Amino acid sequence: MILDIKTFPDEVLRKKNEPVSVVDDSVKKLLDDMVDTMRSAKGVGLAAPQVGVNKRVIIVDISAGEDPDSLMRIINPEILELSGEPDVNEEGCLSVPGEYEVVARPSKAVIKYLKENGSEEIVKADGFLARALQHEIDHLNGVLFIDRLSMSKRETVKKRIRKRISIGDYVAGRG
Ligand SMILES: [Zn+2]
Repeated sequence: MILDIKTFPDEVLRKKNEPVSVVDDSVKKLLDDMVDTMRSAKGVGLAAPQVGVNKRVIIVDISAGEDPDSLMRIINPEILELSGEPDVNEEGCLSVPGEYEVVARPSKAVIKYLKENGSEEIVKADGFLARALQHEIDHLNGVLFIDRLSMSKRETVKKRIRKRISIGDYVAGRG
């Protein structure tokens, strides 16, 4: 089922997200719906708060639907380590449609998470995957990529968004 994607400045994007204590059918359904929603928006990642659910659940598919093996369904992710040269690249977000800005992030990330079968998994990611995982985990902490811009850049982006909202031209973007 395709869910509504909440966009900035919706408050649900800033709320506290609770860890999943039991991986039951409702969590699996949430993950299924998030995959449908991400695919339909042609995104590369989605976090539960972006569909209005304040739980620590994310999905990432850096192939944007091209490679079935690339889809990751992730519960209660934790960053164990960030390292490497800063990777400086353009980033966007399904909750901040139409905005793409350069964000520097560590190029390597080690993430621990829970799979749906309850087993713990550790992924060592680099490059675009490391970026996508950090972006989605940021969402679980109420952080948007625009928060990582310089203050002046952030104000410019917010101004542009307010203008677009006022003329009713604010449609979904990509992650
Ligand atoms: Zn996002």
